[in-house]
Amino acid sequence: MPSVISHAAVAVAAGIAFAPRDVPDHFWSVAIACSIIPDADVIAFSLGTPYDHFFGHRGFFHSPFFGLLMSIFLVGVFFRDVELFSRRWFFYLVFFFLLAASHGILDAFTNGGLGIALLAPFDTTRYFFPWRPIVVSPIGIQGLFTKWGLMVIRSELLWVWLPCFLMAIVSTVIRVLTVRH
Ligand SMILES: [Zn+2]
Repeated sequence: MPSVISHAAVAVAAGIAFAPRDVPDHFWSVAIACSIIPDADVIAFSLGTPYDHFFGHRGFFHSPFFGLLMSIFLVGVFFRDVELFSRRWFFYLVFFFLLAASHGILDAFTNGGLGIALLAPFDTTRYFFPWRPIVVSPIGIQGLFTKWGLMVIRSELLWVWLPCFLMAIVSTVIRVLTVRH
């Protein structure tokens, strides 16, 4: 995985770029949760579930399909006051789905570990993209304070944080320029 913090950075940048200005405060917590929850599947290791198992790390819980289920669940629980099938309801559903899906997709750009079950549950093959510039993050926090950790941070700054930063800046400029006076 890129580190959890980088997944969260995607959530914040996407929110700045695409969310309406009047979203409630808890929108941000739900967005960040969507981007990092797939990595809760590392618990599989301590349960003795093998890495390449359907429910192993980077398995089903990293798939966009799971992301869709999670998004439906979160919108149902945390945005109950939003009218069903309204424009805002669809925005939340699609936004949280894409954020959850972004997790597995970003992981597929990393250079280590097993691939991602991007098409689960329909196909359990673990996929990587052919081009994998992101140095895979060690599992656990302490690994980040090593030479490996420094390489991870450098590659994530370049391949995740920089594009996120640019997306947030460009979208903010566009919003300012297109705001109705
Ligand atoms: Zn991951």
